[in-house]
Amino acid sequence: MNKKIIFLGYPGSGKGTQSAMLSKEFSIYSLSTGDAFRQMMKEGKGEVADQVRNCVNNGILVSDELTFEVVKNSLPSIDNSWILDGFPRNLNQAKILNEFCPPTEVILVDIDEKIIFQRLTGRRLAKSSGKMYNVFLNPPKTEGICDESGETLIQRDDDKAEIVQKRLEVYRLETEPLIKYYQDKGILKKINGDLPIDEVYSNLREVLGF
Ligand code: AMP
Repeated sequence: MNKKIIFLGYPGSGKGTQSAMLSKEFSIYSLSTGDAFRQMMKEGKGEVADQVRNCVNNGILVSDELTFEVVKNSLPSIDNSWILDGFPRNLNQAKILNEFCPPTEVILVDIDEKIIFQRLTGRRLAKSSGKMYNVFLNPPKTEGICDESGETLIQRDDDKAEIVQKRLEVYRLETEPLIKYYQDKGILKKINGDLPIDEVYSNLREVLGF
């Protein structure tokens, strides 16, 4: 059966990691709207790229029109299985998606907001090696330096404390209502995101029947 899976959860809940693992193991097409926007920011010049940069760097949502354009142009075919990570982010997007192609299951990666703050503000990235660290939870041996490549670690602009506050507020106000929306449709499945990655993944497979 074709599965159309949505991941819901706070930024930093680990939904990106889980959707990538699922996508890889079962060869299901997966789209992260956050990644798509970061790619547009990296490559793009002009008004649209500026609009995206302004929203992402300030922790607010990109317009529903532009976001849905990205989703529609990226999904391979409505006849295939797919995973969406980071879309929909508000009720309007959920309704647009429902008209276009309704999800078959929605996974809520449930996690305490206090943990999220540390996860996001502590996150550091080594661009070349692709390694991720966390200054609180998984620090490099030498502060600010990648253990593998020796390069200087960077912090995403939107992982700075005041922007993280904003992103969490946007989640509570705009995205959290989707939990009830999908609960009422009977397709919401909750997993505990506050466990080691492999345990979260095994629970995920179980609730999806994979
Ligand atoms: P993420 O990596 O999923 O936390 O997304 C990073 C940023 O991309 C968000 O803070 C928003 O500015 C933007 N973004 C991602 N997905 C959406 C969406 N579905 N609707 C609007 N903006 C989005």
